[in-house]
Amino acid sequence: MDLLIVGSGFFGLTIAERAAASGRKVTVIDRRHHIGGNAYSEDEEQTGIEVHRYGAHLFHTSNPTVWEYVNRFTTFTDYVHRVYTNHNGVVYPLPINLGTINQFFQAAYSPTEARALVHELAGEFDAKDAANLEEKAIALIGRPLYEAFIRDYTAKQWQTDPKDLPAEVISRLPVRYTYDNRYFNDTWEGLPTDGYTAWLERMADHPNIDVKLDTDFFDTAQPLNKAATVGQVPIVYTGPVDRYFDYAEGALSWRTLDFEEEVLDVGDYQGTSVMNYADAGVPYTRVHEFKHFHPERADRYPADRTVIMREYSRFATRDDEPYYPVNTPQDRAGLLAYRDLAKGEKDVQFGGRLGTYQYLDMHMAIGAALSMWNNQLA
Ligand code: UDP
Repeated sequence: MDLLIVGSGFFGLTIAERAAASGRKVTVIDRRHHIGGNAYSEDEEQTGIEVHRYGAHLFHTSNPTVWEYVNRFTTFTDYVHRVYTNHNGVVYPLPINLGTINQFFQAAYSPTEARALVHELAGEFDAKDAANLEEKAIALIGRPLYEAFIRDYTAKQWQTDPKDLPAEVISRLPVRYTYDNRYFNDTWEGLPTDGYTAWLERMADHPNIDVKLDTDFFDTAQPLNKAATVGQVPIVYTGPVDRYFDYAEGALSWRTLDFEEEVLDVGDYQGTSVMNYADAGVPYTRVHEFKHFHPERADRYPADRTVIMREYSRFATRDDEPYYPVNTPQDRAGLLAYRDLAKGEKDVQFGGRLGTYQYLDMHMAIGAALSMWNNQLA
């Protein structure tokens, strides 16, 4: 073995694929029973509808290198992501655009008028000086829209005061003074034509890649454990960075998700793939309806049944699956300490959302893995 990769998500598999293609023998271990990390999907048993087991994954990128790379393993459908949000029992389009603004204010503002209004409502804050999520959001859309669509949703999703969340979290969402309600701004977007798992399996399908599932790096009873491998073979570790160091610098805070899946005897539950629930009174953040991700599969999917998943968000304990780094000021201090520790680990590279404690999208994880391969490992 030339390289041991801990974790088979997009970061780990990209490194594995590149290493294998250049003739290295690679072992990928994952403690779950399947590859792909949180991008894993499978067909729901009764309906055959593809369900993203760990929440909806929408692929989008503006990076030509990443786009060329991912197209080696899958084609993409022409799916374009759009999200709607329910506030006080009324549905509005997201991200916040001229349609949202006019519906909210029961008006017919032009782009110039809407900008002037938001500028006036945002008065107290300036986007470029915004120190946290709340200031940034108010600067971008003004207080009334912030309170309707962002404040309570963010409280449900992060259970953290928006003043303690980084401004970048909200910068993920564009604000538009047109009626364009595409969720993403990227050049390329789509879903893998035959599903995420087929794509992930193709990345791992190489004689130089050995994938061992149900294999926990921290389980000393299995031979490829941490104590037995660090310093003996180069390692790329993509699990939680705090877990690697046994929480020596304290636990970093993560959010986890709980999903409640239901198969319903209706052809169409909500008319769209993702409906957010903006209000504090609704305990879940959003409802996914998976058949809408693949309208091109209409002839394969049942016309009279559907699969929905309600998503709930909460703080992760050590026994939960970490999904999102919370990134409070205290976490950022902890992360710096872990980065110092990581530098001292001989022949161990840390990567991916968990390994770097960064809110990476799929295309960012793949791009970061390609860079790590080219610049440090190759
Ligand atoms: N957000 C919000 N209201 C919404 C959608 C998003 O306040 O209806 C905020 C919220 O703080 C969220 C952030 O925008 O964490 C980023 O949203 P995104 O949809 O990118 O989150 P993801 O899909 O990665 O969970």
